[in-house]
Amino acid sequence: MTNEDISKIKSFLFKSKNVVIVPHKGPDGDAIGSSLAIFHLLKNEGINTTVISPNEFPDFLKWMPGSEEILIYEKNESEADTIISTADVVFTLDFNHLSRTGIMEPVLKRATSTAKFILIDHHEQPDDYAHFMYSDVSICSTCQMVFQFFDKMDLAEKITPEMATCIYTGIMTDTGSFKYRSTTGETHHIIAQLIEKGADNTTIHENIYDTNSYERLQLLGRTLSNLKVINELNVAYTTLTQEELNQFNFKKGDTEGFVNYGLSLEGIIFAAIFIENESEGIVKISFRSKGDFSVNDFARNHFDGGGHINAAGGKSQLNMQQTLEKFISLLPQYQEELIK
Ligand code: 5GP
Ligand code: MN
Repeated sequence: MTNEDISKIKSFLFKSKNVVIVPHKGPDGDAIGSSLAIFHLLKNEGINTTVISPNEFPDFLKWMPGSEEILIYEKNESEADTIISTADVVFTLDFNHLSRTGIMEPVLKRATSTAKFILIDHHEQPDDYAHFMYSDVSICSTCQMVFQFFDKMDLAEKITPEMATCIYTGIMTDTGSFKYRSTTGETHHIIAQLIEKGADNTTIHENIYDTNSYERLQLLGRTLSNLKVINELNVAYTTLTQEELNQFNFKKGDTEGFVNYGLSLEGIIFAAIFIENESEGIVKISFRSKGDFSVNDFARNHFDGGGHINAAGGKSQLNMQQTLEKFISLLPQYQEELIK
C-alpha cells in the first residue's frame, strides 16, 4: 500500500456513512480480531459499521469485545444484503479471494461496483478485486497488518484497550503464540505497544487456550490415537470421521490446532488432518509443514485450497477413504523435498 493509497483512503474513509467489514468463511482469531479492531475504530469515529461474517465463528472467540455485534450472513441473508448494497466502503480481511467468503461471493462481487474495497491480507497470490490492496505474505497475521495500517494512517493514538485486545489475539493465534518463523522483532515490538495500550496478555491467552470442554479433550485423544506416521517420508496425518465428531459432541472450533500434534513428532515436516463434513459433503483438510515444503502449493495443486507456505487448507469431494488414498499416492512425487 503506497503513501498515495493511504492519503486517498484518509480522504474518503472518515467521510463514509456505511462501512462493512468481512472476514473469511470459518473465521479464526486473526480474521475476527482484525475485523473487530477496525469495527471499534470506525464506530468510535461515529461511522455506521457492520462486521458480516459468512458463517458462525467458534465459541472460543465469543469473549472478544464487539463479537456479540457480528452479523452472521448465513442466518441474516436479506438484512446483510441490504447493508452491503448501501456500503460506501468494504474491508475484506484475512483472505485473498472472494470465493473464501463462500455464499457471500456474489453479493460482494456486485458491491465492487458500488463500494470502495480495501483488502488487508497476508495470504499467497491475492486476487485483484479490491480498489486498495495491502497484501504482504511475509507478515505473520492480518492483525499485525491492521496495526501497521493504523500506524500509517496516523491512528495509533486511537487504539483503545478493546482494539489492542482484538489485535493481540489475532497475532497470538496466527503465530502459534509467537513461535512461528513469521514472528519478527517488529511483531514483538507491536505486541509490546498493544500491552501498553491495554491488551491483557495473560487473560487473552487463558480465554483462547484454557477454555477446553472435557469433550474437546476426548476428541483430541481420538485424533491422537488415529495418528498415522509415514516415517520414510517424514509425514504424519490423522483423521476424524463425522461419526467420531458426533460422538464427542463436536462444536465449531473444537479441532483448531489438532493438526499441529503430527508436526510435533521428531523429524516430521509435513502433517495433515482430514475431517469429514457430512452436511457439506466434503472432507476438510488442514496442512502444516516445517521449512521449505510449501503446503500452499500442495493444497492449491491437489485439494482446491491454499494458504501460506507452512499452513494451508483445502477440501475433497471424495469420501474419507478415497481422499486418504489420493493423499498417500501423491506423496512419492514430493519425496525429494520431504526427506532432504
Ligand atoms: P486452517 O488449516 O487453520 O483451516 O487454515 C490454514 C490456512 O489456510 C489459513 O490461513 C486459511 O485461511 C487457509 N485455508 C484454509 N482452508 C482453505 C481453503 O479451502 N482454501 C484456501 N484458499 N485457503 C484455505
Ligand atoms: Mn491470518
